[in-house]
Amino acid sequence: MTPAVFLDRDDTLIECTGLPAPKPPANPGDLVDPRLVRLLPGVAEGLSRLAAGGYALVVVSNQGVVARGGGTIADVEAVNARLREVVRAEAGVEFAGIYFCLYHPKGAVPEFTREHPWRKPAPGMILAAAADLGLDLASSWLVGDAPRDVEAGLAAGIARERCLRVGAGGDVPDVSAAADVILAVHDVRAIVEAGGEVTTMLMHARDAGALRDERTRGTVLATARAVGERVGVRVLHADIEGDALVVTLGAGKLAGLGLLAEVRRITDAWHAKRRGVALWRGADAAE
Ligand SMILES: [Mg+2]
Repeated sequence: MTPAVFLDRDDTLIECTGLPAPKPPANPGDLVDPRLVRLLPGVAEGLSRLAAGGYALVVVSNQGVVARGGGTIADVEAVNARLREVVRAEAGVEFAGIYFCLYHPKGAVPEFTREHPWRKPAPGMILAAAADLGLDLASSWLVGDAPRDVEAGLAAGIARERCLRVGAGGDVPDVSAAADVILAVHDVRAIVEAGGEVTTMLMHARDAGALRDERTRGTVLATARAVGERVGVRVLHADIEGDALVVTLGAGKLAGLGLLAEVRRITDAWHAKRRGVALWRGADAAE
């Protein structure tokens, strides 16, 4: 069975909230004009890597706009068709399925005005896709921008750590960062199953505030990846969590200490030049 990434559509794959408001009864945030379909930053690149990693890509989208009378099924299908085209052109991938729910309990079109098991936070679309496409929910992920996306994933039996909320205040900033997390876990499993070693290491900043600086974070993460490439240690994942750099490596602890020592040497010198102080305290293996 195939693992999947279930993807919310609006404000996860394509921009909606930032667009000029459509005509009522469509709500701000509804998109019924295929000419306005634009992928959000990181989406094309993220989808391309997820497909290459063997994940079926399945869109699950509430389109209550149809029940509210702000658009027709044909409008929703035209936007979905345009989304397929743009993703094919920019990411070189195909969706395994696009599921949408046109029902809404407070609609204006009587035949679609009711609650429906497909409407997120209910898991209907995910469960239907899994049955239709032979997907393995236990190894699948969900990516969406709204709490109800995560709730739908949980209701379908996907573990919380596999339901990633994108956007400000979410688990990850965008679909590209979601792909980083998904593929890192994927790689870790493959390495461990092949009998290889995986280590997660932490290195704490001397000043907790220093890593909140965007440029410092970017420099530290880019340095970790570059050092990994140079010394032949596979960096499966690198991120800043609170006051620490956290790296997961396809290697043992000794290689990890070596990598962090080199990251520390380079970024301490860089930071000292900018701010007059070193950046890091010590390095530890994570629990
Ligand atoms: Mg959304």
